[in-house]
Amino acid sequence: MADPTLSAEVQFLKGVGPRLAPAFAKLNLRTVADVLYHFPRRYEDRRNLPRIRDLVPGQFATIRGRITQVDARPTRGGMMIIKATIRDASGSAFLVWFNQPWVRKALEHYRGEVLAYGQVKEGDYAPEIAAPEWEKIDEDADPEEFARIVAVYPLTEGVTQRSVRSAVRSAIDKYVGSLADPLPESIRRENDLRPIVWSLRQMHFPEEERLRLMARRRLVFEEFLYMQLALAMRRAETQLEMGIGFPIAQLLAGAELPAAASARTAASGELRDVSSTLFAAEAAVERDREPFWAQVGRMLPFTLTGAQQRVVGEILHDMAIPVPMNRLVQGDVGSGKTAVAACAMLAAVRSGYQAALMAPTEILAEQHAANLRRLFEPLGITVELLVGKLGVAAKRKAAERTASGLASIAVGTHALIQDGISFRNLGLVIVDEQHRFGVRQRMALREKGMGNPDVLVMTATPIPRSLTMTMYGDLDVSIIDELPPGRREIKTHFKRPSERVEVFAAVAKLVASGRQAYFVCPMVSENEKMQAQAAEELHLRLSTQVYPDLRVGLLHGQMKSADKERVMDEFRRHELDILVSTTVIEVGVDVPNASVMVIEDANRFGLSQLHQLRGRVGRGVHQSFCVLIADAKSEDAQKRMDIMVATTDGFRIAEEDLRLRGPGELAGTKQSGNLDFKLADLVQDGEMLIQAREVAKRIVQADPKLEKPENQLMCERIQDRWSSMAVVTVS
Ligand code: ADP
Ligand code: MG
Repeated sequence: MADPTLSAEVQFLKGVGPRLAPAFAKLNLRTVADVLYHFPRRYEDRRNLPRIRDLVPGQFATIRGRITQVDARPTRGGMMIIKATIRDASGSAFLVWFNQPWVRKALEHYRGEVLAYGQVKEGDYAPEIAAPEWEKIDEDADPEEFARIVAVYPLTEGVTQRSVRSAVRSAIDKYVGSLADPLPESIRRENDLRPIVWSLRQMHFPEEERLRLMARRRLVFEEFLYMQLALAMRRAETQLEMGIGFPIAQLLAGAELPAAASARTAASGELRDVSSTLFAAEAAVERDREPFWAQVGRMLPFTLTGAQQRVVGEILHDMAIPVPMNRLVQGDVGSGKTAVAACAMLAAVRSGYQAALMAPTEILAEQHAANLRRLFEPLGITVELLVGKLGVAAKRKAAERTASGLASIAVGTHALIQDGISFRNLGLVIVDEQHRFGVRQRMALREKGMGNPDVLVMTATPIPRSLTMTMYGDLDVSIIDELPPGRREIKTHFKRPSERVEVFAAVAKLVASGRQAYFVCPMVSENEKMQAQAAEELHLRLSTQVYPDLRVGLLHGQMKSADKERVMDEFRRHELDILVSTTVIEVGVDVPNASVMVIEDANRFGLSQLHQLRGRVGRGVHQSFCVLIADAKSEDAQKRMDIMVATTDGFRIAEEDLRLRGPGELAGTKQSGNLDFKLADLVQDGEMLIQAREVAKRIVQADPKLEKPENQLMCERIQDRWSSMAVVTVS
């Protein structure tokens, strides 16, 4: 923090001093500002504590009473149980600790009052609270800690509630007065936000729950605002870069393209050399002069859905302007992202540029290449597959065709950028399946002389809006929110392990009628080896005991990629009836005849992952099924299974997943860097995030670098906290 007084060391606060300062440092409390922003974990309303006699089992409660007896008893397992009797005027209860000798030391000879908080359980003789949070009430205790709403802070060894409270009190009394509000008055007024000093006071020493919530609202808004400002600034910066302005208007009209326009890369701001003009001329010979949409009509065997058309329109709009496109296309499995990508590639190629598509695995790259060839080759557009297994000679040939521009479209894995593949004239990069393509990757492209192409990231993982705005807040987002017509909804069933036989029989019946089935083995471990073993076991059981007469294949991550591909091919060609697999089939695999998926131990998977898996069926004309086998004992597990049965809407499932598992889990730790908030909660505060985002956009529009005096303090705060993000993408 920039304010000199707020950066004063924590040891100068009352109740800390040089002795406690190291313990405070363990909580990351080093300065006065750290203490002011060390927010309570919860609050305790001590104005009307329940009487012990009125305690209700199951409820969380704070009680106040005198310790009258402390017993310590070893268990057979070598543990120590400490049981203290606490008594008030109405009755008594037990406080119970396991293996906490220091509690015994602290209470053994203490016969004063304590406050204890925890979940009440029904005990043998009296109510019990196990492992309570507690504090002594000394004779000379600060009256402020009573008969009011009291903040309860996260602690560490050597730091008590009392010492934190007194440090906070002294920070507020002595230092907070000098704190200038970083949010300009106008923003506070428009968004109904309380001043900073008032808010900090209420957070630590709330007068009323209502006021505390107003304080929290202001601080959460501020937190969101800084992050959204950083994202908006980064976005504004990208928009200052020069990108390619594709001649989309001519393309739409079917006009002949001026070669110069298509060969011009704005990144360098100058015309490419003569040979690239030559290339463009060459290309023009093959180039079809039909209007763009007519070409699309010839290319695709179906008409685009309304959603697909809208998204293609959004992409074309980005491509037309000479600013690098950074767009994320979200569409549920089967929503037809490939067709959208193909339209974008067609536009790039017909403008005289090359396009690259990067998939997360070689299997998927191959699948894409095969699909794209079917679409593009009839139009005379060459698609080159560039993957490791090609063999040296074949790969070199492919690389040459890409470098010379003979190949208009290159398909590969992410190694496409790294492997020294060069392009003649790369205009569009499409990244399939949720790979973060950020500033760093853009830089890599530029360093390798690939210019500053437009980038489209496609993901089949529906992401809740609040997560999109934080994790991908610097990208423009398009959503394909409509499935192609004629799809039949996948029917999902939830079965107990005891009903397995019935499930096996139902699958056998479907197979007998010509369908194929997936079995996803239980998730036993993050460890690939153990996971492979689980798949092998299930495969053995199904192939020898359950379905000895059927053709049962096996696919897992420990197999060589040649073997994986052989198995996938066999399944695709219907040389296998059943495929036992780990989650390696999660992404993108397309076998329309597979109409049933059985997921073992389904409650071990996250909802979004189940949704992804389920998306492997329901891709053809047949009614498809998904069977979740789970021993869902907990309420939470039951709820998750119910959601899967109830809906196939990926966005709804993602929202539920966010509520149940929280943003960090959902995003994966690697990507959750943007989700580290002190107070804000993406689930609960989603509305405020949207509001803060709008405000941030407006501020950056008017003042892209936050140079105006009224934005000065906000700018400093962003540098403190979000500077790394403002420069480099989390990837
Ligand atoms: P995604 O990659 O979004 O999961 P795909 O692009 O693989 O989906 O499309 C899924 C299936 O739907 C493919 O077989 C594709 O040919 C088909 N498809 C895509 N768009 C349409 C459409 N507008 N009308 C009919 N079928 C479509
Ligand atoms: Mg796809």
